[in-house]
Amino acid sequence: MKTEILKINRDNINIDFIKKAASFIKNGDLVAFPTETVYGLGADGLNDEACRKIFKAKGRPSDNPLILHISHISMLDNLVEEITDKHRKLFDLWPGPMTLIFKKSDLIPDAVTAGGDTVAIRFPSDKVALALISQANTPIAAPSANISGRPSPTKASDVYQDMDGIIPVIIDGGESNIGIESTVIDLSGDEPTILRPGFYTYEFLKEILDDMKLDDSLVDSTKIPKSPGQKYKHYAPKAKLRVFIGENVPAYILKLADKYKEEGKKVGILVFDEDKDKFASYPYLSLGSRNDLSTMSHVLFSSLREMDRLGVDIILAEGVRENHLGKSIMNRMKKAAANDVNYL
Ligand code: AMP
Ligand code: MG
Repeated sequence: MKTEILKINRDNINIDFIKKAASFIKNGDLVAFPTETVYGLGADGLNDEACRKIFKAKGRPSDNPLILHISHISMLDNLVEEITDKHRKLFDLWPGPMTLIFKKSDLIPDAVTAGGDTVAIRFPSDKVALALISQANTPIAAPSANISGRPSPTKASDVYQDMDGIIPVIIDGGESNIGIESTVIDLSGDEPTILRPGFYTYEFLKEILDDMKLDDSLVDSTKIPKSPGQKYKHYAPKAKLRVFIGENVPAYILKLADKYKEEGKKVGILVFDEDKDKFASYPYLSLGSRNDLSTMSHVLFSSLREMDRLGVDIILAEGVRENHLGKSIMNRMKKAAANDVNYL
């Protein structure tokens, strides 16, 4: 299959390209498109067969449900069983990087929910995503547009790397601003519960709903996550990733890098701006300033992919403390590193 790239400027949207992409969605085909979190791999969310193509294209385990993307709050009514006043308090954060899980309506195909009785919904803020959903006139089911297990794509070229020849269309709408996936909050039980941390943090969400909880697995890593997607190996570069947090991390990483180099391994470094001078003799990428976690989330996945392009065997990276956005970033880093996270 030939994969076509449609380049669309967010600030001056080419409606003919949107119409073309939407016609693929309506025909039951897949379209990769930008959102403010990461790029999504979209299908008509009310078409079971189309949604099954997503699992095939990504190699996604069939028990991992999909998020439905809407372009207006009114689209929710047909998709979920009940919306309470309490739920509505969170709607102020929409459109944005937040996914809410509700009891599903009968309209939702099994492929979306992986056979379960709940459905995940997100109202993204990216203008290209909104134009596509409106034009397709259907909720769009979309997980991240990577091969399962790989770092999520934050630009069209990342999607192309994984999906060339597999899907018919990629919309190139520039870089995703946020760079890590949405915060997933389960509203289907008695207490609102964060299943996946994201740009909206636990500390922030607790200010809106004071009974907000964190899924047990996010507090105690030996517990099984409620969200199926959190069980799997994820976000992993081809190279081995090792993460270090604490005192004197740059000096420690430098020593370790020298040791790996002596063993004949090609080492890549991910460091904060404040420390990058120390690593001039290695391929390194900056994660931004140590105090700027938004930049770190923006560049994290693309840096892992860039390290693979550079062909390194081992990536040594600085991590951050696990609070606020740092908790969401470390959630991704731990999985990408298969838990090789070291506190010095
Ligand atoms: P992705 O779109 O690949 O970033 O993954 C979506 C995330 O939302 C995965 O972790 C899914 O397991 C999770 N998810 C989607 N639908 C549900 C649901 N109905 N219940 C629990 N988790 C869900
Ligand atoms: Mg994903």
